[in-house]
Amino acid sequence: ERVIASRQGPHLRLAGGGAGIINFCANNYLGLSSHPEVIRAAVEALEKFGAGLSSVRFICGTQSIHKDLEEKIARFHQREDAILYASCFDANAGIFEALLTPEDAVLSDELNHASIIDGIRLCKANKYRYKHMDMQDLEAKLKEAQKHRLRLVATDGAFSMDGDIAPLREICQLAQKYDALVFIDECHATGFLGPNGRGTDELLGVMDKVTIVNSTLGKALGGAAGGYTTGPKPLIDLLRQRSRPYLFSNSLPPAVVGCASKALDLLMESNAIAQSMAAKTQRFRSKMTAAGFTISGKDHPICPVMLGDARLASVMAEDMLNRGIYVIGFSYPVVPKGKARIRVQISAVHSDEDIDRCVEAFTEVGRKHGAL
Ligand code: PLP
Repeated sequence: ERVIASRQGPHLRLAGGGAGIINFCANNYLGLSSHPEVIRAAVEALEKFGAGLSSVRFICGTQSIHKDLEEKIARFHQREDAILYASCFDANAGIFEALLTPEDAVLSDELNHASIIDGIRLCKANKYRYKHMDMQDLEAKLKEAQKHRLRLVATDGAFSMDGDIAPLREICQLAQKYDALVFIDECHATGFLGPNGRGTDELLGVMDKVTIVNSTLGKALGGAAGGYTTGPKPLIDLLRQRSRPYLFSNSLPPAVVGCASKALDLLMESNAIAQSMAAKTQRFRSKMTAAGFTISGKDHPICPVMLGDARLASVMAEDMLNRGIYVIGFSYPVVPKGKARIRVQISAVHSDEDIDRCVEAFTEVGRKHGAL
């Protein structure tokens, strides 16, 4: 782990190192982690509501700001209600066990995030794993799962290692045909995908067909911490009664609630920030492709520069840092063997110059190591 000695943002100072490192590896897609209004809202919430609740929600840990944030999240996603967790990892850990019984079935994309996999492990439903975004395989598994009482299809909306987007239209059609519910994890979509930044379901026109959305407050929505489930009110009521990470873990601290609440206000006022991020993503993807690199995914600010070889990815990432560009190489077992990559993440607060410097550094380093 590299130690950062400054705020999170496009330009960092690393502990013991130089300043002015350009950061391309945070999930700070909208640059709200250090937004002045977000910080001010956190300070105000801290002053007014204190450092923390020293309690779980249902004993004496619910303040007006928690209820207001839940209402705001539901309004943002155009759902009936929402429930807060300490993280999206907890939201994913809590939902499957609370909802599904041994009579039910859950169908999960093989590349779903670890927290979905763990959440599914905790439940006693029948488990089906379908090939990544493979609708033929999902249909076959849905047919097989007809014998169960209830079926739930679970998928990431956008996949964090590849920057690819789940085919939600097709998933929802299959769900309708085989009488299944759809759950999506929107951690890498909330706040910036779709015309109003509502997420993958908005992007693909299926907001009324996806039943359950889980997402994080720890990425685009201010980056502090926290997660949530939003969906039908009876489902949220059930989670308040049964979801173990909600029942047995401390309430979100007021400062964290203040950050997320302000981030949502900013995004509901205007989607200019999301549009600026999309333009920068487009700039990076097209310049890198023109330089001869293969970038996985499409139109997503997660831009995996595909290199294949694990050592190459690691050596190139190190050399990028020597040139002041902070990126991370990923290799097996985080991604499949032979598919090592450097993952670049674009933020609305990168300048065009930052993007161009990153492309230039990649071109130099790529030539030096024979990747181009
Ligand atoms: N789901 C996905 C797809 C993620 O990428 C992450 C975080 O890395 C999580 C869930 C967990 O979110 P949180 O950091 O809020 O626990």
